[in-house]
Amino acid sequence: MNARYWTLAKRPPPPWPDEATFALKEASVPAPGPGQALTRTIYVSLDPYQWGYKRRGEELEGAPCHARTVSQVVESRIEGIAAGDLVFNTNGWAEFGLMGEGVPRPSYMIPRKLNPVRGKISHAVGVLGMLGLTAYAGMALQCEPRPGETAVVSAASGGVGQIAGQIARLKGCRVVGIAGHEEKCRFVVEELGFDACILRLSSSFAHDLRAACPDGIDIYFENVGGMVFDAVLPLFNPGARMTVCGLIAHYGDAPGEDARGHHRSRAEGRDVRVQNLSVGTYVADWHDAFLAEMAPWVASGEVRYREYIREGFEVIPAAFSEMLRGENFGKTLVRVAPDPTLT
Ligand code: NDP
Repeated sequence: MNARYWTLAKRPPPPWPDEATFALKEASVPAPGPGQALTRTIYVSLDPYQWGYKRRGEELEGAPCHARTVSQVVESRIEGIAAGDLVFNTNGWAEFGLMGEGVPRPSYMIPRKLNPVRGKISHAVGVLGMLGLTAYAGMALQCEPRPGETAVVSAASGGVGQIAGQIARLKGCRVVGIAGHEEKCRFVVEELGFDACILRLSSSFAHDLRAACPDGIDIYFENVGGMVFDAVLPLFNPGARMTVCGLIAHYGDAPGEDARGHHRSRAEGRDVRVQNLSVGTYVADWHDAFLAEMAPWVASGEVRYREYIREGFEVIPAAFSEMLRGENFGKTLVRVAPDPTLT
């Protein structure tokens, strides 16, 4: 049987993806070897970091584009995993994939069996997976929010931003979001409980942000960089903390541009404690503690979480570009096969 996958067609990739950047291919579905399982992809997680992988040439030529996935086991030669089980794994932009012994993956993306009774399976690549851990590590662990402080979060309605801001709210901060559309801003305030949300594309953006932070900024959760950071910088209080989670505005920069270094030196010049975030370094020590705190928040509705789910394998490249342009509204996923827990 053959199955489809998307691969990078243009090498080196352009600054931003276009219609010719990806190619749709077909290959025969592999048979699992000893210690392996064949899985069928249900959800493909689309994340900005994937563009960094491609731009830095970290994907094997001709291989499926990398992504974290939620999948269903078709055939298993792994003890404790059976056909029909639902798993978190890394099939990438592919309809089928192997997991288990000898299957290449980032070391910290550890495949695991999911328990659908505990919540939506799509949350395994979202609020109850590495995305949620990213927000938790950056906000709760690195920025150490204290009651009464002002915390600002960019890309506030996105996958990471919505969770990071709600953590700050639960820790007693005044929380100000930044987003790219009025509807997103309304959601951030009315649904997520932020105190304010500022439209980054407004001509009065810098002024509006200042007005929303009358006591200055104590914490900044950086997801974007660019002109958003230019507006945040003058508002930092001495001793403020900034987590550099991502710099999406710079993901199309020429290779060798040091956006992170430039960021750090500008912020440190204003007495800000700057911390880079790489979620992989938190998985081993913090994943269980994070889940113990986050899962009850999600179950009780104290943390709300919006997904932006596109349908169909063909739309993956378009959905990926939408996310990089800010046309997503919530955590971006593509459902490429029916989710058996929804039927
Ligand atoms: P999002 O769902 O937040 O999608 C990206 C958002 O970025 C868009 O919706 C848009 O929101 C905003 N955006 C896009 N282009 C620009 C621009 N030029 N200027 C300002 N904002 C822009 O994605 P994620 O939640 O998955 O990721 C958020 C960030 O976290 C990314 O930078 C990502 O790389 C990073 N990340 C880092 C990890 C780590 O380990 N450090 C792990 C996971 C993610 P809007 O239009 O509303 O502003």
